[in-house]
Amino acid sequence: MAYSSRNQYLSKTEREQAAVLFEALQQAAAAVTAGDRDRQTIIDLVRSHCATVTELDLDYVELVDPVSLLPVEQIDHHALLALAARLGTTRLIDNIVLQTRSPIIAIDGPAGAGKSTVTRAIADRLGLLYLDTGAMYRAVTWLVMETGIALDDEVAIAELVATCDLDMQPQGDGGCVVTMNSMDITAAIRTPEVTANVSTVAAQKAVRESLVKQQQAFGDRGGLVAEGRDMGTCVFPHAEVKIFLTATPAERARRRACDLSAQGYEVDLAQLEADIIERDRQDSTREIAPLSKADDAIELVTDGMTIEAVIEQIIDYTRNDHLSS
Ligand code: C5P
Repeated sequence: MAYSSRNQYLSKTEREQAAVLFEALQQAAAAVTAGDRDRQTIIDLVRSHCATVTELDLDYVELVDPVSLLPVEQIDHHALLALAARLGTTRLIDNIVLQTRSPIIAIDGPAGAGKSTVTRAIADRLGLLYLDTGAMYRAVTWLVMETGIALDDEVAIAELVATCDLDMQPQGDGGCVVTMNSMDITAAIRTPEVTANVSTVAAQKAVRESLVKQQQAFGDRGGLVAEGRDMGTCVFPHAEVKIFLTATPAERARRRACDLSAQGYEVDLAQLEADIIERDRQDSTREIAPLSKADDAIELVTDGMTIEAVIEQIIDYTRNDHLSS
């Protein structure tokens, strides 16, 4: 049953009876997953389940668009199923978002905010596909450098991105193997040289168009948690959950320093912080799809939070959105 201050007015028996509302909504969600899309079918299903409790007086059952609240005849991507009912002297309301595809969780934010670790863990725990879009921009940058093309030669880079064969193969542990023209470059795309150049390449129109198309193809069937800079704003504007994960530059530099020294690199903390600030500047001021928080994204500032707390918090948001079973 939905949590509501009104529930306190229910007797113990009424509280048990009221659970039929929640069950009816869950049954509607199961019907949509099984292929039902039609308004009347879904509303009838809810009504007939609620009719099993004769004391319950249904006020309305409505299927509407979650944004415009206009009635929906056929569910295309998603719809809001809402109801109100009287039980004794109490009026109860509840609703659920019905989806025709598995959910998409979009996680955006600046460099070093912990997106990779968090996204990978969420994919693993919720059984979703993990899409690391930063790795795709890194892979193209690696190829540009490998081929010896100048970073500002947009024409040659456009040609390169149109003809290269970039593949992302998700692994069982939530990780991902990145191949470029059949070569495994998973480790090669993480060098400081690639990191220093990636924002310049990622700002180019042809690069973004090509990679966004590939990213959207991954999302067609849903069931995905994607991290990047423009997941919620551009690539998956209809994502069910949008998170903007960030932290202060000092905190992000400190985390990067830990990662890099663990990989055996020498680190200069002040330089790392300056690099992060510069990458933020480039990513958030570029002309195409700049890094910014989507209006409907939840902002999480992670200074002082453990990774585990961040993961739990996001999983909580997805549950509150009725996304998980
Ligand atoms: O997340 P990561 O640090 O691997 O991203 C590398 C770079 O790729 C970012 O600094 C940004 O320039 C670019 N990027 C982007 N759009 C995304 C993901 C990454 O422009 N969706």
